[in-house]
Amino acid sequence: MDSNQIRKAADMILNAGRIVVFTGAGISTESGIPDFRSPGGIWSQYNQDDLTYQKFMSAERYRKLYWEYDKARYPAMRDAKPNDAHLAVVQIEKMGKLKALITQNIDGLHYRAGSNPHRIYELHGTVIEVTCLKCHERWPREEITDRMERENIDVPYCDKCGGPLKCATIAFGQSLPSDVLEAAIDHAQQCDLFLTIGSSLVVQPASMLPLQAKRAGAELVLVNLSTTPYDAMMDLIVRGPAAKVMSDIMGAISEKT
Ligand code: NAD
Repeated sequence: MDSNQIRKAADMILNAGRIVVFTGAGISTESGIPDFRSPGGIWSQYNQDDLTYQKFMSAERYRKLYWEYDKARYPAMRDAKPNDAHLAVVQIEKMGKLKALITQNIDGLHYRAGSNPHRIYELHGTVIEVTCLKCHERWPREEITDRMERENIDVPYCDKCGGPLKCATIAFGQSLPSDVLEAAIDHAQQCDLFLTIGSSLVVQPASMLPLQAKRAGAELVLVNLSTTPYDAMMDLIVRGPAAKVMSDIMGAISEKT
């Protein structure tokens, strides 16, 4: 990790007035939650084609597979604690500069870190709730999973309308909530610094957000371990583990202020 890049990132944050932070699975890997695409990530254990929204709706066996996958991924999310990168975002907010915190993550760690819930936009929903895909009623996750355990149910259905229940996350092939996406685009177009932390920037439409921000005149900073398809348009890339990079950047900021 280059200390010049850390200092430059610190200056860019200090000079910015309106910052949007955009996070992906990479911000939470150091909290013990595997991402999708790194070696050993979730897609090395499950076939993503079997976990699409369309497959879920099409047959009981795919719904069963979905709930097995969910049972396997959830404990890491339930037990995870926010790391220094999540906490750095809270510090940026305390500096009075954060307009919005847009996340692709479903793990709820930004809430647990103490970010203001009114500034958080969860593009891909959350694992802490379950929803009926027919009547859209929602329940706390534990209420449904405790019932599944107690009654030995593989696939839960809605008591009210009989629709299939699924985590309140956005599966592949499922539309993003349009109000959340529109708000995220608005924020991206109105910031002067767009800071991406831990995203491969390959999942659309979330990954177009840095592009929207750039076109509207924002500077772009990327903190990520691997390359992304948008590296060429970044104003600064800090290649390294998010928790260390973000804590070094916040350290450089406090030295300067
Ligand atoms: P991704 O798996 O496609 O990419 C993660 C990126 O983070 C990779 O480029 C990787 O190099 C980088 N990375 C991994 N560990 C890092 C670290 N310690 N520091 C810096 N960078 C690191 O994830 P994505 O871009 O968020 O998009 C894919 C989907 O993953 C999203 O839909 C999201 O909902 C879902 N997802 C979320 C979680 C979570 O909520 N924690 C976990 C897995 C997947």
